[in-house]
Formats: sequence, C-alpha cells, structure tokens
Amino acid sequence: MFSPIKKHIALISVHGDPAIEIGKEEAGGQNVYVRQVGKALAQKGWLVDMFTRKANSQQATIVQHSPNCRTIRLTAGPEEFVPRDDIFAYLPEFVNKFLQFQQDNQINYSLVHTNYWLSAWVGMQLKKTLDVKQVHTYHSLGAVKYKSVTTIPMIATTRLGTEKAVLESADRIVATSPQEREHMRSLVSQKGEIDIIPCGTDISHFGSISREAAREKLGIDRETQIILYVGRFDKRKGIETLVRAVGQSETRKNNQLKLIIGGGFRPGHSDGKEHDRIAKIVNELGLNDITIFPGRLSREALPIYYTAADLTVVPSHYEPFGLVTIEAMACGTPVIGSDVGGLQFTIKPEVTGLLCPPKDSAAFAVAIDRILSQPKWRNELGINARKRVQEMFSWDGVASQLSNLYLDLIKQPVAKELSTVSA
Ligand code: UDP
Repeated sequence: MFSPIKKHIALISVHGDPAIEIGKEEAGGQNVYVRQVGKALAQKGWLVDMFTRKANSQQATIVQHSPNCRTIRLTAGPEEFVPRDDIFAYLPEFVNKFLQFQQDNQINYSLVHTNYWLSAWVGMQLKKTLDVKQVHTYHSLGAVKYKSVTTIPMIATTRLGTEKAVLESADRIVATSPQEREHMRSLVSQKGEIDIIPCGTDISHFGSISREAAREKLGIDRETQIILYVGRFDKRKGIETLVRAVGQSETRKNNQLKLIIGGGFRPGHSDGKEHDRIAKIVNELGLNDITIFPGRLSREALPIYYTAADLTVVPSHYEPFGLVTIEAMACGTPVIGSDVGGLQFTIKPEVTGLLCPPKDSAAFAVAIDRILSQPKWRNELGINARKRVQEMFSWDGVASQLSNLYLDLIKQPVAKELSTVSA
C-alpha cells in the first residue's frame, strides 16, 4: 500500500478546517473531503500538510492525523469564527503566514491543492513567488450558487473574478462530477484544464452495520418507516421541500412514518435560524409527532442512522457533489435527491434512488410514496446503491486518481518565470 513518494504537498482549505467537528454551519463536505483525501494521500506516501485558518484561540496550531498527515492552523485575522463571505480581507495575511511556515520549517511544497475560491486566491498568490503547481477544487461555484439565492453578498464580484482566474490559470482543476465541469464551461470560462475526479467515502465505515442492528440501536421497530435528512441547516439544502413533501405524502397517513432531520446548529447563528424556521414549518403542518431533530450526528452515529433509514432525501436547491448521498448509498439506503448538479451523477434514477425537480415538494411526495410502498423494490435500490459506491466512490480510489494527477503535474516544468511579487 505504501510507496515512497515522499514529496511535500499542501492542501489549502482556508475556511473548511479538516480537523474540526463536522455537521455545523461552516463544517460540511469540504472539511470531510480535505481530511479524507489528505489521510489517503499520506497512506500513498505523500507528506501532507493541510492548511486552514485558526478560528478559535483555544484550537491547537498543529493536529497530527497520522504520521505523514497534519492540519496546520495559521493565524490570519482574529482567532475567532468569521463567516466565509467576510474572510477575504484576511487572505494576504494567510499567504504571508504560509510562506513564513514554509521558510521556518524548510519545506518546499511541490504542489498546492486549493479548496473553495478563498483558497484558490491564496494558491494563485503562492504561484507568483513559489515554484509550485496548483490544483483546485471548487466545492461550490458562485456562478451557480448566486442563481438560487435571493440576496447576493457584497463579495460576489471578487468571488466570480477569482473563480474565473483560477480556472484559467491553475495547472489543473478537479471537477467532482461531469455536471460541475459543464457548469464551469458554460458559466465560468472555456479556458483551463479540467479533470473529473469524484468525492469519495469510507466504504468500510459506511455499511458496517446490519439494518436490524442499526434499528435496534435507535430503538426503532420493524414496522416504522424512516425518512432521513442529514446535513447542514442552510436554505440551499432545501429541508423545507422535504418537510412539505412529507406533509403531502400518502405514507404519512398510515401513522408509521418518522422523519429524522439530522444536523448541528448554533442558536442565533444562521444555521440556528434555519433550524427554527424549519421547526416552525414542521409545527404548522402538524408533523411534530413524527419529526425528530437529533442534532449533530457523530461519525460513529452516521452509519447507524443511514442504515436504519428506509430512505435518505437530499432536497438541495444546488449541490456540487453531495457527500451525504454516497454515504447513505454506501449503507445500502436508496436516496431521493433533487435533479441538480452532482446528484445527477451519484444517483441513478430507478436504479439506486430517484431524482425530483428541486423545490418541488409534490414530486418529492410522489417519489417518497413510490419507494416506501414497495419494500422489495426499496431493498433492490439499496443493494444497487451500495454496489455503485463500491465501484465508483471509495476514498482510496479517489486518492489514487489525485495521486496520479499530482505525479503527472510535478513532472512537468513550471510554465512561467517566477516573479518576486508577494501577496
Ligand atoms: N455531517 C455530519 N454530521 C451531521 C451532518 C453532516 O458528520 O450531523 C457530515 C456528512 O456526513 C457529510 C458532510 O457533513 O460528510 C456534508 O457534506 P455534503 O457534501 O453532503 O454537504 P455540504 O456540507 O458540503 O454542503
């Protein structure tokens, strides 16, 4: 398994700390992606440093995940939580701290893999002064996201400009699905090189427990039908669509339905407000008795919930990839998702689950009823789902593809003369 590559690479994720607790507002798929990719790459022989912004003075500066993989928290701006839309002003300091760290520790990173547009900007600055390759993963595209929100933030122009610049200048862009690549081409730029390497999941962790054992652990009897949502409380996640769909579903009438809405939130913050808004809709629709909000689900709890559920629903308005989908599928649970972005790639309609138009609660209700009324078909969908993840979305497979890409790029000479400009 271990090959002696022994080259230093930096994964940069300014706002998505790979060492932090997952399931809160600013911690989701990107944090999981960076941590799992980092750990899997280290297993393949890379020396992996994952850089993020310190968001709390109590946090350790360095977290060692495995012998060749660590998270390094750089101080850039106040050592406190800053929403991602307000972080840009602190990026020059982040760049300087990165350069300082590299110098102090006498490390030369051969390649930086940046995540989200904030880190893309950092990577582009580093390329001005260092002999380094840049690979970039967007995780979310402003050009798509801003289509589905009502308030466009002040930072939008800077974000869109950075997303275009990095597509045209990075050594390689990693799209996590063909749909994401299509968005980059149609909405951002025709220039730049894009590879498709999906996100992955830990197929031994997800899928490690039987349905009976999972239900027993949660105290759920055989007759109860469970619909599960897992994810952040964010309007873009479309939880309202799911709640309204459950309200309209025929299955609800048989009194054996439970809706579990799993995810952490902080009272008073935007995720806390979205939780309260959803809880209000649940109440208005008379769904209090059948709805459970278990809060943040730990890594250990997740496979139990996914496996115990009859169905997982991912009702996002927009989803670049959607890790929750493949986690549920790996646990043998069919997924009903919105017919958008990465969900069109991960879910095979009628084979591993179903796709519905986003925000269309009536369509979601029909899909829920179709699957829940046919337990045998449900089981078949679940078996196919697990198989699809095993074949296409394991972290090990993803890390191998990234590793080959890095090796390829590192072999190539640096395309331009280095300037002496700093950030
Ligand atoms: N997650 C978790 N606990 C929770 C809710 C979410 O660990 O209570 C994890 C979930 O398992 C997944 C990630 O957060 O790995 C969410 O990733 P996804 O790509 O689905 O959505 P994002 O947060 O990136 O929009």
